[in-house]
Amino acid sequence: MTTSHKCISCEKEETVVPLVSLTFSKIPAWICTQCLPTLIHNPAQLESKFRDMDIENPPKPELN
Ligand SMILES: [Zn+2]
Repeated sequence: MTTSHKCISCEKEETVVPLVSLTFSKIPAWICTQCLPTLIHNPAQLESKFRDMDIENPPKPELN
């Protein structure tokens, strides 16, 4: 099973649309190019998406 990234806004997968990586509050996220303008011009619309974002694979702190 492969993990494919999804747009945080429209939830399209990277196999369907090009995704751009970003981080928010140190959380890695992905957004597609179609939703990117929304993030730029209306970030408030996506704020809840970030906060409600379900982290499937939370990054583990590296304790070396
Ligand atoms: Zn999208």
